[in-house]
Amino acid sequence: MQFNGDNAYSYIQDQLDIGFRIPGTQERVDCANYFISKFQEIDNNFIYHLHNFTTHLVDCQNVLFKLNEDKPNIIILGTHYDSRAKATKDPDITNRDSPVPGANDGASGSAVLLEIAKVLYNRRENLSCQIWFLFFDAEDQGKDNDYGLDGWDWCIGSREFASEIDNYYNSTKESFECMILLDMVGGDNLQFINEQYSTSSLLNELFAVGRQLGYNNQFSSNPETASIIDDHRAFLNIGISSADLIINFWDNPGWSYHHTIQDNINHISNISLDVTGKTVEQFIYNNYIKNPENSYQGNFPWIKDKNILSIDMLITIILIIIFICIIIELFIIIRDETVDNIELKK
Ligand SMILES: [Zn+2]
Repeated sequence: MQFNGDNAYSYIQDQLDIGFRIPGTQERVDCANYFISKFQEIDNNFIYHLHNFTTHLVDCQNVLFKLNEDKPNIIILGTHYDSRAKATKDPDITNRDSPVPGANDGASGSAVLLEIAKVLYNRRENLSCQIWFLFFDAEDQGKDNDYGLDGWDWCIGSREFASEIDNYYNSTKESFECMILLDMVGGDNLQFINEQYSTSSLLNELFAVGRQLGYNNQFSSNPETASIIDDHRAFLNIGISSADLIINFWDNPGWSYHHTIQDNINHISNISLDVTGKTVEQFIYNNYIKNPENSYQGNFPWIKDKNILSIDMLITIILIIIFICIIIELFIIIRDETVDNIELKK
């Protein structure tokens, strides 16, 4: 089983069907419950924690799922799952009080995490690390252009979580390897940027893995550069190497729907989801798979070339060889009989 972008696409649709996942709404609660149900589809006993906090009198909730809790070294895969209450950048000013569907901004990263969780769960016994799948609330309600939610800042959920992270692991036995944040990873024309707060060695490695997989457009060798206030910063601030996989969302003709009502399923690409998921999946295999010489090598294209023949193909080839032998044998018999006939006539 490998990461499947079509599956991730359907998880975005599921989240959009729930409604607008705005902090403090029933839809936000329903979305958290949807994640729990999806992880329980993988394993009914999947370990999870609900991190409740209150901001601006609104009850919010981060959701954390843990894979391989017995391993001491932890990789955090993070995303926000709230969708923005107001489409503050919509070109039509009358839409700016309407909520953003958040297909890319929120639902895409969450969908990729759900699919990665399923894939890595199947290989959990070969992984030498613990993985956290961490979904943040209250990321996307800050102020751009004129307004967001009154007085709200960006990235509240991740900061609340990082401030209480000690409650979720044992610092004498466990430590953090890195944190990878996915934000707006499912839109058309995906091109990741060189995000400047990110730990450069970690982000460079993710770019290198993506390019090794052939995703040269998405992980450009000459990417745009910018510093983005995002959920990874809270983890950098507590000393965890962190990288933000994010696009140019402010001036991008290839995906111009940021904080508009057009951030919907029509501008989502299953290929973008596939590229993101397979790259993160491969990053994990490169660094944390046991016995690499005889284990799954993941998504590298050259592996396909080395595949042994499938049974179907083998049977077909054998049948073709038998058929050719019969034809040759018949040819020889006919020729010999012809020769005999000629000799008889003499
Ligand atoms: Zn946003």
